[in-house]
Amino acid sequence: MIVMKFGGTSVEDSAAIRRLIEIVDSELPRRPIVFVSACAGVTNQLLKIADFSATGKKDQANDLIAAIRSRHEKLVDELIGAELPKNYLKGKISVYAHELKNLSQAISVLGEVTGRSRDTIASYGERLSSMIIAQAMEESSMKSMFVDAREFMITDDNYSNAVPLFDIVEEKSKKLLLPLVRDGYVVVTQGFIGSSENGITTTIGRGGSDYSASIVGSLLDAEEIQIWTDVDGVLTADPSIVKGARRIKKMSFNEASELAYFGARVLHPKTILPAIDKSIPVYVRNSRNPSYNGTLITKGDGNKECVAKSIAYKERITLLNIESSRMFLAPNFLEAVFSVFSKYQTIAHAVATSEVSVTIAIEDTTHLEELKRDISEFAEVSESAGKAIVCIVGENIRYSPGVVGRIFSALKEVRVNMISQGASEINVGFVVDEKDIGQTVQMLHEELFADAGSQGSFHEIFD
Ligand code: ADP
Ligand code: ASP
Ligand code: MG
Repeated sequence: MIVMKFGGTSVEDSAAIRRLIEIVDSELPRRPIVFVSACAGVTNQLLKIADFSATGKKDQANDLIAAIRSRHEKLVDELIGAELPKNYLKGKISVYAHELKNLSQAISVLGEVTGRSRDTIASYGERLSSMIIAQAMEESSMKSMFVDAREFMITDDNYSNAVPLFDIVEEKSKKLLLPLVRDGYVVVTQGFIGSSENGITTTIGRGGSDYSASIVGSLLDAEEIQIWTDVDGVLTADPSIVKGARRIKKMSFNEASELAYFGARVLHPKTILPAIDKSIPVYVRNSRNPSYNGTLITKGDGNKECVAKSIAYKERITLLNIESSRMFLAPNFLEAVFSVFSKYQTIAHAVATSEVSVTIAIEDTTHLEELKRDISEFAEVSESAGKAIVCIVGENIRYSPGVVGRIFSALKEVRVNMISQGASEINVGFVVDEKDIGQTVQMLHEELFADAGSQGSFHEIFD
């Protein structure tokens, strides 16, 4: 059995869905379970509906509901010929549009949107796309079965960022999905959405469909997890910044995790973790170019010569500069600092310490004021916002003493605010001003990837 996940652009219109069906068809002997995202842009529209409703912009909310409705009706018209399923799907779309209107109305009466209603609204994107895709497969004579992910993806009730309860997900998905797979059905289900133990709809974080697929792939011991997207695989940098970004043919689990964690949108940050547990290979492939092999992510890449694999960046970073008021770092100073971070559940993405101070890079500023207040009881604290972390990832950075020098000499004109090398030693990260991101990533890419001869057996690793 394999798990295949198709992202928003891979289900964006009827042509994309036809390509998806062809791709799934070519994998039928390997018994696929298919996870789909909402059609590109729909989750954003749904979240806007929630915000418009809460701020009294009823007309804008209704316009978006109408747009979502007609987009999906068009999909049905273009993909489904038979009258009965066509009417059934249109009826469902109409019911969902009414439910969205009712939710929008309720939110506008309250004047605020709760996490619970935001997740319920966000779930309609995946629910709509998946039911149409499952039916379109039937039309093309594929034996498929629609399954609502909320029946097996059981999570806690931390809305918008719900955490799957693995034991229950394992038990339910084994009971529900495996018999269908054994009976030769292509299971079509949704990424991103789940349900609390009380049956309330949840979502597992933006871009979370990758994670849904890898969780189930791992729990059901899939042979392979395939992430189908709109680029040729994991690239040496974000292609929207670096035009000449190259495809990485192979990378290790650690490299891919680190890259995803530091902002490469192509994979949700947690995607790789479940695959590591069972050593399941993950392929990232282009649904617009399915004959291409994509990127294979496995246990180790076996190539000791290639130093850097890819460059990622994370924007909207704030630096907190914390100086010990006693002019030296007392043994328990860092402990005191981090206990404040722990109290407010704020993740430190990078840390640098000197004799008298510590600088911490954070992304989540929800509790910034409380963090500063608590820390100021024992240290001076100041903040600088508008920063970005840039991160160069590669298994062999640890074996290559010259690489850090090369990285920083490439950045002549860029002001570097802070440097940190990950404990895993497979990344080098540093903080720059957000406005310098484009220039920084382009210069680094030029230094590390433009010259094919500069990194050992380059052609085995990159296109
Ligand atoms: P999907 O809807 O298929 O999940 P996403 O938009 O979430 O697709 O992720 C794919 C996008 O990630 C690409 O279109 C690309 O712009 C962006 N991206 C950022 N960094 C990288 C990278 N290093 N390699 C590949 N794509 C990247
Ligand atoms: N549709 C969701 C989002 O846009 C989940 C996903 O596509 O992975 O965040
Ligand atoms: Mg994605």
